Amino acid sequence: MTRSAELFERAQHSIPGGVNSPVRAFKGVGGTPIFIQKAKGAYMYDEDGQRYIDYIGSWGPMITGHADEDILDAVRQRLELGLSYGAPTALETEMAETLCQLVPSMQKVRMVNSGTEATMSAIRLARGYTGRDKILKFEGCYHGHSDSLLVKAGSGALTFGVPTSPGVPADFAQHTLTLPYNDIPALEACFAQVGQEIACIIVEPVAGNMNCIPPQPGYLEALRRVCDQYGTLLIFDEVMTGFRVALGGAQAHYQVTPDLTTLGKIVGGGLPVGAFGGRKEVMDHLSPLGPVYQAGTLSGNPLAMAAGLALLRKIQAPGFHQQLSDYVTRLCAGLEAAAAEAGIPVITQAVGGMFGLFFTDQPSVNNFNAATACDLEAFNRFFHAMLKEGVYLAPSAYEAGFVSSCHGEEELQLTLEAAQKAFATLKK
Ligand code: PLP
Repeated sequence: MTRSAELFERAQHSIPGGVNSPVRAFKGVGGTPIFIQKAKGAYMYDEDGQRYIDYIGSWGPMITGHADEDILDAVRQRLELGLSYGAPTALETEMAETLCQLVPSMQKVRMVNSGTEATMSAIRLARGYTGRDKILKFEGCYHGHSDSLLVKAGSGALTFGVPTSPGVPADFAQHTLTLPYNDIPALEACFAQVGQEIACIIVEPVAGNMNCIPPQPGYLEALRRVCDQYGTLLIFDEVMTGFRVALGGAQAHYQVTPDLTTLGKIVGGGLPVGAFGGRKEVMDHLSPLGPVYQAGTLSGNPLAMAAGLALLRKIQAPGFHQQLSDYVTRLCAGLEAAAAEAGIPVITQAVGGMFGLFFTDQPSVNNFNAATACDLEAFNRFFHAMLKEGVYLAPSAYEAGFVSSCHGEEELQLTLEAAQKAFATLKK
């Protein structure tokens, strides 16, 4: 028995399913999870001493690689000054100013402790601001696990076959309208019917929780258009795409401006942080200025701010995002070539530093139904074959992959050699 297997066995006695977040349990791909002992750069090391090239990056934050010395130093320096005060700090304003500068649609921003909190709070604000109850989300988009948003959510929920979680009252779920992603006629029909009642649209501007699905040309613009027409707020959930697909996020990449933006992952440099922000006039509805309540004991935590700021400084280096996207382009081309060589129908889709691999003979995958129609069993076998070769992909066919600036030539070659072997095993 491996040490990971032993640890998993033990964990299951005291932690539901042995994990603190469901996808970690490997249920989607089968087998038992690997327990990580440490990580550095592009690599993670498990409790049995195995090394893996990591394409998860803690599900997004580790965009400059693991245990980045600059981030560790920033945290070490703050450490001596105390862990939390529950009172304002200069660091929080520095963080807010940095965010507003990097993502100009955010004129004001509030820090929270996770992506879930960010989206939940942004939804409440949109409802409070517009005085409307209904919200619109898209099938397969995941926006964290708050009640209103756990309706037809992707990734974790999708992996476990529970599109809408038990425990979400039907009274809540009824206010959450869902439509297929990338479908402009469905969007227009919905707004023609109930547009005046919809407080906000929340969308992943590149969907990363049903694998990696970019918006079709004109789709984000159509969202903006109907929102303007019906007085609905447009929320870009950039928890995943923020600072990853471009320095200014998907909104910079696609040049579409939302009313509110939610952030997480990278913004905390690996510590638990989220943020939401947007137009000043909307944000000023938040307490203590306005009536919409929102709060947090540890929000704006100094260690987390220090880590996040250190990371945000680093990713502003010229060419940083180009390097990520060059790596992803070469990785995807290499994976497609290796699959073709083995005669296995595979396509890839990518934007900036995120990518997805689909086992399908379709030319593209544009929505939830198309994502779930892909060959799940082939993905699962591929996942395990890659793991055996020392490449750690997300343990679910419905998650995007992430690269860091530590992924270089050597990691690319090792990954593609592993993929050649893995695809060959699929042929058998
Ligand atoms: N929104 C998106 C797009 C996400 O991908 C996630 C998490 O993966 C969340 C929100 C929730 O963030 P957190 O897990 O930090 O609560």
